[in-house]
Amino acid sequence: MVKIDKDEFNQKIFKRIYNLIDEYNLINEGERIAVALSGGKDSVLTLHALSSYKKICGFNFDLVAIAVDEGIEGYRASGISSAVNNAKLCNVDLIQESFKDNFGYNLDDIYENFKSACIPCGVFRRHILNKAAYDWNADKIATGHNLDDEIQSFLMSFARGDTLKFSKFGPELKRIHPKLVPRIKPLWNTPEKEVGLWAVINDIDIHLAECPYSSLSLRSKIKGFLNDVENRNPGIKQNILSSFIKSLNVEPSMPKLYECEVCGEPTSSNICKACEIVDLLNSD
Ligand code: SF4
Repeated sequence: MVKIDKDEFNQKIFKRIYNLIDEYNLINEGERIAVALSGGKDSVLTLHALSSYKKICGFNFDLVAIAVDEGIEGYRASGISSAVNNAKLCNVDLIQESFKDNFGYNLDDIYENFKSACIPCGVFRRHILNKAAYDWNADKIATGHNLDDEIQSFLMSFARGDTLKFSKFGPELKRIHPKLVPRIKPLWNTPEKEVGLWAVINDIDIHLAECPYSSLSLRSKIKGFLNDVENRNPGIKQNILSSFIKSLNVEPSMPKLYECEVCGEPTSSNICKACEIVDLLNSD
């Protein structure tokens, strides 16, 4: 078994993250950065990396973390507890939000109305994160998307024929509406395996459980497929990433955004997806 030097490994993984931040100017002097903190390994590493980057980068910026409780019985509570502990450890304030407080429903109560629980979950979470970050005057939201997530999303868009989504790839998403807080992905080129290893060798308090609804998702199927192909053909994931880095050079077409007639949040049509879902649920 290969023995891993903890300090060397930590240095390597953090240096890659710092380099990505510097290369793409993901964070600039005086900015306010909100970390989307679920308590899982990826968001926890993002928080630790940004809080240590703050100490070494030579300029000042503000950090806050936002945790969203979807209302998934037996699953989310331990994620929130990891989020609370890690925010405390990194000395970063934590804003806590929930589906119930924002929309009046827990995910457990409504998931059966949809083909997949991930549909309302993703819509509500994005809505809440954006609103909480905007209310805190955030310049950017940092998410824990790692290299594997990015490749999965890329292939999911291919599989769905949804080429408009290609504009969402890359380590940063530009501001396309005054009320839509841009996203940055500091783990964009960090493989998921390394994130897991970082959490294990440093004995980090992370939320390990799988969401009970995740096995039903297209992402989970694509993840299984990619891991299988990578095991048989090492380097495939990196090749896919390289291919879509090339595609990033093509100017993406951005959808025009408006403000939702109900809640005022940015949306590509008159009413945003979250309000559409709430309307559908209320009419049942
Ligand atoms: Fe939500 Fe789906 Fe993720 Fe579960 S797997 S937390 S339902 S998006």
